[in-house]
Amino acid sequence: MIKLSDTLLKPLADAAGVSGAEDEVRRLIVKHIRPYVEDLRIDSMGNILAVKKGTGESDLRILVAAHMDEVGFMVTGIDSNGMLQVKNVGGVDARILPSLRVKVGKQKLPGVFCWKPIHLNRGDDVVSIDNMRVDIGATSKSAAQSKVQLGDRIVFDSEVIEMNDVVIRGKAFDDRAGCAELIEIIKGDPFPFDLLVAFTVQEEVGLRGASVLGEALRPDAAIVLECTACHEVPQPPEKADQTTVTKLGHGPVISYMDRTSIAHVGLRRHFTQTAEANGIPHQFRSPQFAGGTDAGIIHKSIHGIPSQTISLPGRYLHTPHIMMSMEDFSNGVKLVRAALQTLSADVLEIN
Ligand SMILES: [Zn+2]
Repeated sequence: MIKLSDTLLKPLADAAGVSGAEDEVRRLIVKHIRPYVEDLRIDSMGNILAVKKGTGESDLRILVAAHMDEVGFMVTGIDSNGMLQVKNVGGVDARILPSLRVKVGKQKLPGVFCWKPIHLNRGDDVVSIDNMRVDIGATSKSAAQSKVQLGDRIVFDSEVIEMNDVVIRGKAFDDRAGCAELIEIIKGDPFPFDLLVAFTVQEEVGLRGASVLGEALRPDAAIVLECTACHEVPQPPEKADQTTVTKLGHGPVISYMDRTSIAHVGLRRHFTQTAEANGIPHQFRSPQFAGGTDAGIIHKSIHGIPSQTISLPGRYLHTPHIMMSMEDFSNGVKLVRAALQTLSADVLEIN
């Protein structure tokens, strides 16, 4: 099993990178992949594009992508008493917010989502971000204005920790886990073909960064590395199928459908057969609760690009406390490496 300390997972997930403000994450990734890639560039949207040289046996162009951004908030106004009005950036359930710790802006000012204390609360307040404010301890508008600007991003205040030998907890594993997997793949052995790699921006606000990849890279196929929802709180049996989307520790997830794409049949078969042939634990995601991934926009690009999403299960996605398994991480890296080593043009044929 790959250990947390042998990966970039912690620094990546601890870094701030709300959609459209991924610079801290981008700098970290560029610094670490530079020795292993060629043609490293940052496009005008902020995506990192690079090529990992292959052995030259195959002229396929295979893209592997992971998104750098995370869900969070943006400062949209300041009240006369110095409280910050905010909007969410990406999907955040307002019900998790009351009294949550956050960090505001580039300076990472400590803040709290304020909520009426129980002494004053009759229990009928509507939990909505429009009714909440972020409190940075300022007592006037001018005091807040001296530290915060409209448009500043706000991230969850949460650091990666090890819960035990296998399970880790932290924010932003969606999708820094995919970024960390991709970095492991970049650092490993070469593949028969040149591997095109992309670390994308603004996935959480509608797959925006990935929309330019097809044209820029002209890949023959794309693999998207993601972190996907997992929820295992017991439910009435008749609802079990809908609630257990994936299971922690049961291996990487081979998607067959989500809200934005249906996996390419040849790629899905190839990944499944590779997992079976190599004894790599794996699971399939039932599509009921599925969100979208960058595959949703990539597979429709230019002339159509065969795409497959491979995810790691994460409990409590889009909260400050996502839990994931280092065993799943290790098996995810193993599966993608093995599937890429044996990927040939016939896998991509439609018949
Ligand atoms: Zn994601």
